[in-house]
Amino acid sequence: MIYRIFATLILLSVYSVCVFGEEQKLRAVIIDGQNNHDWKGTSPILKAALERSGRFDVDVITSPPKGGDTNEFRPDFGKYDVVVLNYTDFGGGDTWSETVQRNFEKYVADGGGVVAYHAAISAFPQWTEFNKMIGIGGWCGRNEKSGPWLYVKDGQVVRDTSPGAAGHHGQQVEFQVVTFDAEHPVMKGLPPAFLHVKDELYSKMRGPAEHVTILATADSKLSEGGSGREEPVLLAVEYGNGRVFVTMLGHDPRSSRCVGFLATLSRGAEWAAIGKVTIPVPNNYPTGEKTSSE
Ligand code: ZN
Repeated sequence: MIYRIFATLILLSVYSVCVFGEEQKLRAVIIDGQNNHDWKGTSPILKAALERSGRFDVDVITSPPKGGDTNEFRPDFGKYDVVVLNYTDFGGGDTWSETVQRNFEKYVADGGGVVAYHAAISAFPQWTEFNKMIGIGGWCGRNEKSGPWLYVKDGQVVRDTSPGAAGHHGQQVEFQVVTFDAEHPVMKGLPPAFLHVKDELYSKMRGPAEHVTILATADSKLSEGGSGREEPVLLAVEYGNGRVFVTMLGHDPRSSRCVGFLATLSRGAEWAAIGKVTIPVPNNYPTGEKTSSE
C-alpha cells in the first residue's frame, strides 16, 4: 500500500514537471529582418540564450527585406509575453506600417514586455510612442528636440538638455559594466560589475527619458573616443502597464557571446515579461577583471 502511494506520488510529480513546467514557459519572439548590423548572426545567439535559460519558448519573425511588401509584416504581438527587437530602419530601412505601430503600442500599454537590443535604439526616430518605450535612443536625426541626454555623474542621474546630436561610440574596447541599481530585479544578486568583451560602448543617447531606471553604466573614456561620461548601458522603462528592458550591448556575434550580456538579456527579458526574475546567475559569469564568453 505504502509503495503504491509512493509510486503514485512520483508519477504525479513527473507529470506536473512535464505538463505544468512546459506550460509555465514564457513566450518570446525575436523580430529581425532589417538592421545595419549582422542580425542573421546575432538572432540565433539571442534565441539560444533565452531557450537555455529554461524560461522561454522562442519564435523568430523576420520582416521582408528593405523595400519589400510591408503588408507581409503583421506580427501578432498579443501571442507573446516579450518581444525582442533586433530590428532598425537605420539607413533607409522600412518603418513599420501604421497598423503594426498601433498594434505594438496597444500590446505594450496593455502590459506586454519588450527588449530593445543594441541597434534597436536607433529605430523609428519619428515614432513618438516608440521613443517613450525605449526611453533614450541615438542617430537618425535625434537631437535636443528628442529629449535630454541621459547619463550619470557623481552617482546622480543627469538629464542634460543642452543642444547636440544623439548617438555615438568610440573604438571597440573591453569595458566594465557597473551596476547602478542593485535592487532592481534584473540586477539583484549579480556581481557589482562585469568586464564585457570588446564591443561598441554607446554614448550620448537622448530621448524622452520618462519612467526610466538606469540599471548599469559604463565609463565612456575620452581617450578611447568616447563621451567622457558615465553612460547608461542597461535600462528599464515603464510604458503604460508594460515593461521595456534596454541593452546597449552586443554589436556583433562575437560581442554577443559575452556571458554577462546574455545573462542580463535573459533576466531583462523575464523581467519585461512578468515583472520579476527567477533566472539564476550562471557559474561562468564574468568578473570585474575577467571576461567570459559562450
Ligand atoms: Zn553596433
